[in-house]
Amino acid sequence: MMIENLTIGKIHEGLLHKDFSARELAQEYLGRIKKYNPALNAFLTITEKEALASAQEVDNQIAQGLPLKSLTGVPAAVKDVIITKGIRTTASAKILEHYTPPYDATVIEKLQEEGYVLLGKTNCDEFAMGASNENSAFGSVKNPWDATRVPGGSSGGSAVAVAAGLAPYALGSDTGGSIRQPASLCGLVGLHCTYGSISRYGLIAMASSLDQIGVFSRTVEEAETVFNVIQGNDPRDATSIGSPPNKGETRPLAERGCKGLKIGIPVEYVGKNWDAEGIEEGVKICVREAIEELEGLGAVVTMIPLPHAPLALSTYYILVPSEVSSNLARYDGMRYGGVNGADTSASFRDTGKRDVPRQSALIEWYENMRTRGLGPESKRRIMIGTYALSAGYYDAYYKKAQQMRTLIRDDFNQAFKEVDLIACPTSPTVAFKIGEKANDPLAMYLADIFTVAVNVAGLPAISLPCGFAPAPDDPQSNLPIGLQLIAPPFSESRLFHAGKAFQQTTDHHLKTPLSMSVL
Ligand code: GLN
Repeated sequence: MMIENLTIGKIHEGLLHKDFSARELAQEYLGRIKKYNPALNAFLTITEKEALASAQEVDNQIAQGLPLKSLTGVPAAVKDVIITKGIRTTASAKILEHYTPPYDATVIEKLQEEGYVLLGKTNCDEFAMGASNENSAFGSVKNPWDATRVPGGSSGGSAVAVAAGLAPYALGSDTGGSIRQPASLCGLVGLHCTYGSISRYGLIAMASSLDQIGVFSRTVEEAETVFNVIQGNDPRDATSIGSPPNKGETRPLAERGCKGLKIGIPVEYVGKNWDAEGIEEGVKICVREAIEELEGLGAVVTMIPLPHAPLALSTYYILVPSEVSSNLARYDGMRYGGVNGADTSASFRDTGKRDVPRQSALIEWYENMRTRGLGPESKRRIMIGTYALSAGYYDAYYKKAQQMRTLIRDDFNQAFKEVDLIACPTSPTVAFKIGEKANDPLAMYLADIFTVAVNVAGLPAISLPCGFAPAPDDPQSNLPIGLQLIAPPFSESRLFHAGKAFQQTTDHHLKTPLSMSVL
């Protein structure tokens, strides 16, 4: 069975026509995971037993002639920040190394109702903070297009699982680009949804006012299928609204793809003549060609202003650390698989004293646990955030960032009065070398330059594979590039229409990594 290019639709048909059983399919994927994961490090936990049991259940259903839903029997990988009952969930953090959640995230419950097959939990940057996956406490993830390069982050493991054909689709989370940027660097579709469209219940919180769960897949159609299953209002997440198909549409787009679609390109991002600094030449070429392709399909393209867009990155890097400093305060090394967890052998907890501390030693205990259990990026953001929220600095930093957030959102509202979609590169670069930016946080933050404004404004966006180009440091390389399309709130359907039309006339998404054969 050639499973690398199987789509969700083909799997559904294959199961219906009994070309293969759900169990055979799960076994194929598990076989590939076992073969390639030691080199790629995409999965932190492989749920073989659970996968085979769910697949068997699906086969029993098929044998009884019961109807199959769109994701029944379809295997999936899930980022390790989405909690799964009885299955270790670490957020790639040492302090959660032994955390086994007692309940499922809402998105997991929804997938279970479909009869999905969980293959495993994927590696990511610690607590989803990073753009390269190098911040994982459990080792970096390799890009299957070139194993010396990063897959992007923070959802790098989910991206690599799909890119390497270890899963047909994967869930990730996106707070500032963590789905779109790795999708771009790995040659995949990456769907980030409107804030509030998908429940965050059971998503380990990084920055709660920006976090959203989303999807990696090869085709837009598949991302849409998964979105339709996992979106929806959830009383357990007070910020969830749900996003029924076409909810945000004010004008009918029906099935007309790109015809008459107005697309704006932010001049602040790419420069009046596509002469902005900091974007690699190869990225500019491919993204411009992709936009011309959309024009060829009937779209009308103009340059538009987003005056405050250049300030989105600094706004984001005040808001996010502030929320992180608060959200990560709950990790004390006792709860969530800490001293009361089943296994007390974790090296970070190896203090010699394994009892719950007496009050007098409590501060020392917290210091010890958090010093050992949290990585450098978590600590950096906790310190920046605590500073930004502290009396005396709050007005100068956090409050200003919140005011800027309103201006950024207003810019997008204004722009969407003129255009239907906004287009720009997803990432200013192709995949960079492992280690290249690891010790330079500012260089790493710049990887998010085109993605963060979307989260700050709560908008949906998609990254589409739009070509390949060499990295500036290696003319022989040939690495994937992504086109980002941004839509008004709750207009995911607009992204799907344009994305499907684009994929019908292009073949970038059909290419698979060549270096897989030499791994
Ligand atoms: N790279 C961004 C950051 O480090 C985005 C992370 C994310 O979306 N989870 O904050």
